[in-house]
Amino acid sequence: MTKVQTTHHLNQAIEALMTRQDTCPLHNFEVVEKDFPMRFVCSKCGAEVDGFEMFWYTKGIEHGIKLFSHFGPTGGNECVTPNENL
Ligand SMILES: [Zn+2]
Repeated sequence: MTKVQTTHHLNQAIEALMTRQDTCPLHNFEVVEKDFPMRFVCSKCGAEVDGFEMFWYTKGIEHGIKLFSHFGPTGGNECVTPNENL
């Protein structure tokens, strides 16, 4: 296999991994390395993150829940007409 072919196969593998990780409905990260900076792997898609990335991923979920509970599913970015049938 030539260097160009190897690079092409690597690029395809990386693209497939990124697609699988991007389409994961909700990561289920499990600790795989407890030493700093720690490593986590999603049991569903295989995404791997370090402790810093895990912190911000978790923080993003927390903020998303707060936005959803305060503003509803649009996050306050759209005018929502109240459902009069409720
Ligand atoms: Zn995942």
